[in-house]
Amino acid sequence: MIPSSFDYVRATSLAHAIGLLQKDPDGSKLVAGGHTLIPTLKLRLASPALLIDIGGIGELKGIQIADRIRIGALTTHAELLASEPLRTVLPIFHQAADLIADPQVRNRGTIGGSLANADPAADWPAVVVALKGELELAGPIGNRQVAARDFFVDIMTTALEPEEVLVAIHIPYPNAGAQFRYRKIRHPASGYAVVGVAVALRQQDGIVSEATIAITGATGRAFAADSASAHLVGKPLSTETIANAALLASEQAECLSDGYASADYRKHLVETEVSRALTSLTNA
Ligand SMILES: Cc1cc2nc3c(=O)[nH]c(=O)nc-3n(C[C@H](O)[C@H](O)[C@H](O)COP(=O)(O)OP(=O)(O)OC[C@H]3O[C@@H](n4cnc5c(N)ncnc54)[C@H](O)[C@@H]3O)c2cc1C
Repeated sequence: MIPSSFDYVRATSLAHAIGLLQKDPDGSKLVAGGHTLIPTLKLRLASPALLIDIGGIGELKGIQIADRIRIGALTTHAELLASEPLRTVLPIFHQAADLIADPQVRNRGTIGGSLANADPAADWPAVVVALKGELELAGPIGNRQVAARDFFVDIMTTALEPEEVLVAIHIPYPNAGAQFRYRKIRHPASGYAVVGVAVALRQQDGIVSEATIAITGATGRAFAADSASAHLVGKPLSTETIANAALLASEQAECLSDGYASADYRKHLVETEVSRALTSLTNA
């Protein structure tokens, strides 16, 4: 449980961090909250020569609410939980943060670290996919934006290049009347999502006009349940519509299997959690 030795530099700016990464992309690791990286080093699953601490970089901090919502990569789960302005506009951040681990993890862990790490059981990936977020990545040749639904490639694999830093998450300001729900079945030991479901939905005159459902935990990467979302649009959120959408979502999920939950059980949980999330919005 003792990591290999490494050098440590506290980056003073985004440009400084990228410059350090460029010198040795494969031998360097960024550290934000350290809640995944430090255990990984202790288990010697990674042995970087250099740790680049990005925790003091101002460009990666803060929550700004304007025509779009910008959440800096270094924003902690606790800050997302506590932000009343964010809760007013996008209550799903409060719902999801409240279900992440415990206060110690929430106080240190960052949304950027969670997204960059791309653990298939992490909560934020489903939220940013459901909200049609874009992730801003900065590298040696400038900044680029990647749609959240394209960012997650596979288990612990994202669209980030080795010399890039995740700077911020940008989310469109929701239309009036938009509703949101995040639900999950927690792993009893870690709190991670065995299956987590994020829903963004809008109803006008009793008919669903917009819907996005995203799932985490079930498969190797968070995904948008497109056929289920499309099924909802143009229909009332009836018991039958919800049941059909939940089934479509579970049919799309190519589920993981592990010692805690088989693929069949996860498929079942996708169906029940999508159903429960949508049903909760009929009463909201
Ligand atoms: C006991 C425990 C329980 C947990 N339970 C949950 C849970 O219920 N739900 C959940 O979603 N998560 C859970 N987590 C994960 C935790 O919430 C953190 O989000 C996660 O560990 C990563 O965030 P971090 O800031 O600590 O990242 P770090 O550990 O610092 O970094 C993780 C990885 O991301 C990279 N990285 C970090 N920031 C950036 C960036 N800005 N740009 C590019 N790469 C970057 C690092 O190089 C590293 O590879 C749990 C963790 C622990 C220890």
